Amino acid sequence: AFLLYLFYLTFPIAQVAEAATAWQAGLAAVRRMREVEVLPLESPEGGVVAGAAASVSLRDVRFGYGDAPVLRGVSLEVPSGGMTAFVGPSGAGKSTVFGLLERFYEAEDGVVAVDGVDVRRWPLAELRGAIGYVEQDAPILAGSLRDNLRYAAPEADDEEIMAVLARTRLDGLVEALPDGLDTRVGHRGTTLSGGQRQRVAIARALLRRPRLLLLDEATSQLDAANEAALKEVVDDLARTTTVLVIAHRLSTVTGADRIVVLEAGEVRAVGSHEELLEVDELYRDLAAVQFAADRNAGV
Ligand code: ADP
Ligand code: MG
Repeated sequence: AFLLYLFYLTFPIAQVAEAATAWQAGLAAVRRMREVEVLPLESPEGGVVAGAAASVSLRDVRFGYGDAPVLRGVSLEVPSGGMTAFVGPSGAGKSTVFGLLERFYEAEDGVVAVDGVDVRRWPLAELRGAIGYVEQDAPILAGSLRDNLRYAAPEADDEEIMAVLARTRLDGLVEALPDGLDTRVGHRGTTLSGGQRQRVAIARALLRRPRLLLLDEATSQLDAANEAALKEVVDDLARTTTVLVIAHRLSTVTGADRIVVLEAGEVRAVGSHEELLEVDELYRDLAAVQFAADRNAGV
């Protein structure tokens, strides 16, 4: 308890929350650590090109945080490049799939592979270095916009930062801010809209040049301009990296190369927006209910 007290004195509260989550994830991962199996998969030397978009494959993956199963045999093949959207009711296991890819947790059964290589065989730092993870409602830290962008890539210079901001359609924002990149944002700083915050989080992830981008879309409603900007950004990124999006918005989904419908820890259907509207009842319901606000907003 004393150590914890010291810890709280030392770190701002947002960072403590973040560290605590990472710590719990670490503990769970340690608990789940088991013998690495020999798998019939390519070796890490098997032609993996640095900078290329990564492929993802899940084979009969089972996982639970406790005794209750959360993923009940999920199989999925995502080729290199393009955009794959995950949709499904809250609690279906969408964010859990991202956690397994980052190896915050390990599958109890089955294989999670990036570039055909079991994530348990990847050196952890390399795996995480290859993945850009934009969490849902990603926080903006108190500090300058530059600080916010650079904390995961401290060596990035202003030229790289401006290139990434152009890619995330935030260059206009920087011009409009009183002190440009030096403008304080977050607590006691300039307030950014939900859409701007999300794109700052994406820009932050892009500075690390990820080969796989995991985007847990913000749930807060975006205005039409931010909505359109997000769609443009994600479509553009999917041309050079593999993008997996947990989508809460119809516009994200309709642009996806494939949509995975998850329900209660199982893949219900995979297909395009049009295909799923045709064949999957749950998808139709989601489109009607979960995405209805977008359509009402004229997006
Ligand atoms: P989704 O992203 O589809 O809403 P999640 O993957 O976040 O679903 O959660 C799937 C299930 O796992 C839910 O029942 C949720 O309560 C549970 N869960 C998620 N994260 C944790 C955790 N860290 N510890 C315990 N249970 C969790
Ligand atoms: Mg989630």
